[in-house]
Amino acid sequence: MASRIPREWFGIQQFPAVTQSKLHELLGKLKEENVSTLTILLMGKGGVGKSSTLNSIMGERLAPVSAFQSEGLRPIMCSRMRAGFTLNIIDTPGLVEGGYVSEQALEVIKRFLLNKTIDVLLYVDRLDAYRVDSLDIQVIKAITDTFGKRIWQRTLVVLTHAQLSPPDGLNYDDFFARRSEALIKCIRLGACIKKQEFEKSAIPVVLVENSGRCRTNDNGEKILPDGTAWIPNLVEVITVVISNGSKPITVDQKLIEGPNADERGKFFIPLILAFQYFFVVKVIQKAIKQDIAKESKPLWELRDMGVANRKF
Ligand code: GDP
Ligand code: MG
Repeated sequence: MASRIPREWFGIQQFPAVTQSKLHELLGKLKEENVSTLTILLMGKGGVGKSSTLNSIMGERLAPVSAFQSEGLRPIMCSRMRAGFTLNIIDTPGLVEGGYVSEQALEVIKRFLLNKTIDVLLYVDRLDAYRVDSLDIQVIKAITDTFGKRIWQRTLVVLTHAQLSPPDGLNYDDFFARRSEALIKCIRLGACIKKQEFEKSAIPVVLVENSGRCRTNDNGEKILPDGTAWIPNLVEVITVVISNGSKPITVDQKLIEGPNADERGKFFIPLILAFQYFFVVKVIQKAIKQDIAKESKPLWELRDMGVANRKF
C-alpha cells in the first residue's frame, strides 16, 4: 500500500522490555493469522490527542502535537516495519472547525485515503470531557457517511487524558462507565444503527494517557489508574477488533461518492415525469386551449370560417 519501503520500527526499542515482548507477541499472533500489515486510522475532533496517540504507539515523535494551534490540514501516514510486519498509522486533522463539521477537512481526508485499506478506526476523544452534544453526533454522522456504517464494526473508542481525578467526588470507574456510555450512545445515534443491531457488536472503549507524566509500573511501563499497561492493552484490543470477522474498509471512488451514486434517485424518475405530465403539461395545454377559445378572431378569419356574413 505504501509507495516506499517503510523504515524499521526503531521506536519500539524505546519501550520497556516487557512492553516490547508483549507487542512482539501480538504482532506474532497477527502474522499467524496471515495479517502482515496493520493500518490504523485516527479520527476525531481537534485537540483530543490523535497525534499524541500516534506518537505514543510508534514510540517516536512523528506527528506534530499542539495544545493551542489548530492542526495542519493534511493527514499524514507514518509507516514502520518490524520482523516483516508493517504498521501504518494515519493521523488526520480535526473534523470540527468553527463549531461545525469541516467539509473541507473531510474532503482532504477522503482524497488522502483513496485506494488505502483501513483495518481499524480509532475514534479519539478525551476522557475528561463531561458532555456530548449534537456536534459529536454530527462528527459521527460525517464518518458514517464517508465510510458506511460498517466502519463501526472496525472501531475502538480511544479516550485520552486517562489519568484524571473525576469531578464531583465520582468514583473513577463510574465516571469512565458514564463517559463511555454517553459516547457509545452518540455513535449509535449518529450512525443511525438500531439498538439491538448495535449491541451485538459492542464497540470497545480503551483508555490512553499520552502525557509524559503518566505513571509507570515497576517495569517502567506507562500505566492507567487501575495499573494496566496501556500501550500493549491498546494494541491487544486492536488485534481483537480486527479478528472479529468483519472486513477491513477499502476506500475506493465508489465508497467516497456514496452508495450507488449513479443509481441514487432513479426510482423517482417515472414519478417525476408523471407529475410533470399531469400537473404541468396538461394544465398548460388546457390553459392554451381556453385562451384560443376566448381569443377575439380577426374579421378575415371569421369570414373564411363563414361566420362573418352571418354576423354582419
Ligand atoms: P490532536 O489535535 O487531536 O492531534 O491532539 P494533540 O495530540 O495535538 O494534543 C492536543 C494537546 O493535548 C497537546 O497539548 C497534547 O500534549 C495534549 N494531550 C494529548 N493527549 C494527552 C493525554 O493523554 N494526556 C494529557 N495530559 N495531555 C494530552
Ligand atoms: Mg493532530
